[in-house]
Amino acid sequence: MTKCPICEKGTLKKVIEEHKMFGVSLGKYPGEKCTNCREVFTDGSVMAKIEAVAKQKGIWGLGKKTKIAKAGNSLAVRIPQEIAKYLKLKIGEEAYIHPEQNKLVIEV
Ligand SMILES: [Zn+2]
Repeated sequence: MTKCPICEKGTLKKVIEEHKMFGVSLGKYPGEKCTNCREVFTDGSVMAKIEAVAKQKGIWGLGKKTKIAKAGNSLAVRIPQEIAKYLKLKIGEEAYIHPEQNKLVIEV
């Protein structure tokens, strides 16, 4: 049995886990999960496969940095072109914005 390199308490158990990126399922892949901290370890060749699927689905690299700007008395968030394209956002479209714990969620 392999000891978990992160918590050093649990042992690693073979599992088949569903991988997701931005809430989109990329399929189920083999990996090893710690019985204590639940960290999942995936080897390089599996990671490459997951990356290829994410690219195929057009979601690879969609997580981007953006700056909050001033817009009158409010603040404005710039949405990168790639994300706008992926979500097919249109100018003038209505969006619903709200906090979720300490995150900002924009629903379109
Ligand atoms: Zn662990």
